[in-house]
Parts: sequence; C-alpha cells; structure tokens
Amino acid sequence: MKNVEKKREHEKKVVTTMICLYCRGNHGTKKPCLECEELIKYACFRTDKCPRMATKTFCSQCPSKCYKPDMMDRITKVMRYSGPRLMLHHPIMVMKHMFVK
Ligand SMILES: [Zn+2]
Repeated sequence: MKNVEKKREHEKKVVTTMICLYCRGNHGTKKPCLECEELIKYACFRTDKCPRMATKTFCSQCPSKCYKPDMMDRITKVMRYSGPRLMLHHPIMVMKHMFVK
C-alpha cells in the first residue's frame, strides 16, 4: 500500500473514532446515531475523494472546501469536541496521524 493510501485509511479511522466520541458525549448513544452515522459516511466518502491527501493533514483543516457547508459545520463541532479528548485517550493515534506523511 502506498503511503497516501495508508494515510487515507488512517484518516478515516480517526474521523470515525472522533465522531463516535462526539456522539457518545452529546447524543448519549453507545453506537453512533443515524445523524452521526451519516456524518461518518460522508467524512469517509470525502476522504476517499480527497485530491490533497498527500499534502493536507485533516479534511477539517484543509483549505479546499470539499465539505458541504452544513457538513463542514457538523464536522467542525465534532473536531472541537473530540480533538482534545482524542489526544487524551488515543495519543498514539493522533501522533501517528500527524507524522504519517
Ligand atoms: Zn450522534
């Protein structure tokens, strides 16, 4: 697997974890609710299609606006909530994400 593909897979995993964390904390469900499930699918789809995978870090921090505005809004909230928590609970996951080039 090429590095870009590895990065892509990893980003999808991190995004999914973040959305699950957010859902658990904000919607009180063990499994992602329908709304969050939709967001996971959307985020993975965008990651699959991302033309800047090799250069960017996260879709949420990417200058090319491939997210629809309302999805962007939702993912921004997720990142704001889950970002610091993920650092606490899965530091290795985040570190890996930052250093996989
Ligand atoms: Zn939810």
